[in-house]
Order: sequence, then structure tokens, then C-alpha cells
Amino acid sequence: MGLSEIKTRIAEAERAAGRASGSVKLIAVSKVQPPERVEAVLRAGHRLFGENYVQEAQGKWPAWREEFLGCEVHMIGPLQSNKAKLAVELFEAIHTLDRPSLAKKLANLAQARGSSPDLFIQVNTGAEPQKAGVLPDDLDAFVAEARKMDLPVKGLMCIPPESEDPSPHFAMLAEMAVRNGLEGLSMGMSSDFGKAIAAGATHVRVGSAIFGARDYS
Ligand SMILES: *Cc1c(COP(=O)(O)O)cnc(C)c1O
Repeated sequence: MGLSEIKTRIAEAERAAGRASGSVKLIAVSKVQPPERVEAVLRAGHRLFGENYVQEAQGKWPAWREEFLGCEVHMIGPLQSNKAKLAVELFEAIHTLDRPSLAKKLANLAQARGSSPDLFIQVNTGAEPQKAGVLPDDLDAFVAEARKMDLPVKGLMCIPPESEDPSPHFAMLAEMAVRNGLEGLSMGMSSDFGKAIAAGATHVRVGSAIFGARDYS
């Protein structure tokens, strides 16, 4: 589809939902993509990207940040505690805060550095055993705990179960955000960002619809 088509569709979805133009941020998910595809999107002026792997991001982004000023890169993949230090140095935001031990680690790093990336708490809205994220029943206590640690929690993130209509999951996440006084909603990918915007997404994470299919071989 490409970048400009996705931007047009986001604008249409904002309008259809009666939302302000520009209220949804497009995170272009560049994991695993060949560099020339990412550079084309950078040259088109896009500056907000998402990555899933700390080491991959470390290898790619320092040079692009120098060449293309104003880049913002968000971590959207599972974060191991032993990569947390590198992650807070590499990313403007982390969307995958999903457990107390990681919160503690990020709080210690924030204290040592005097700053922290913006944080989104990942919620396992479908309570899927194989999926990361705080369970819905545990969320309010976890938000309170993170706030006590002075962590800059900006919102919630989810990846709905693959085989289900995502809309009820998006609605659940939006409801949990309101309940906890959080404004950010990181939800919606290539296949469902329109539904996510209708449900209040502030950040959509779109990869293959912008860059083409990923080749993991
Ligand atoms: C890979 C990934 C995306 C992008 O997926 P597409 O289907 O390519 O748009 C979004 N969010 C997360 C958490 C991802 O891992």
C-alpha cells in the first residue's frame, strides 16, 4: 500500500470517528525490513518508527538518526531485563512494559539517568497464555505500582488474539485507559488500524502495509 496511502486512510478513519485531524500517530514498524525500504520512507519525510529487537535497532538507527534529523524510534517488542539498559538509551518510548521486575529495572535506570523513555503498559486483553502483557484483572494495581516508582506511564498497548474480531479488545483497552487516567492507546496494525482508530487509538503500529511483507529467511 505504501506510506502515503496509509496516511490517507488514517486521516479518513480520524474523520469517520469524529476525531481531530492528526490525533493518531503512525508508527512505521521497520523491523526486519531491508534498509532501502526504510530509507525511502525516511526520505519521504516520515520520522516515527517502531522496532521489535534491541540489537537490530542498535545496528540500524544511530546512523539514520545522524542522517535524518528528528527521528523517534519506539520499542514495540518484548523487552528482556538484560536489554533494558540498552533500550532506554536507544528508544524514545517503550510500548511493552509488562511485568513488575521490568518496571523496577526501568525505574532504577531512570533514576540513574535522570530521564526515562515514555512508557506504555502492554495488556494481554485476550489472556492468551503464550502472549506477553499484564492480565486485565491485574492492570489497575500495576499502573498504581508503576506510578509509585515515578515511571512516565503514558498509555496502554495491546495485540488482540489473531483469530478474533479485534474491536472488543480495542474497546476494552480504551476503557481501561480511561479508568486509569491514561491518554495513550497503542493499538492497531496493518490489518486493523481503522478499527483501532474508531476505538480511540492514539498510536497505530503499521509495518507490512507500508513496507511490504517481511522476509525472515
Ligand atoms: C510487527 C508488529 C507490528 C506491525 O505488524 P504489521 O502486521 O506488519 O503491520 C505491530 N505491532 C507489533 C507489536 C509488532 O510486533
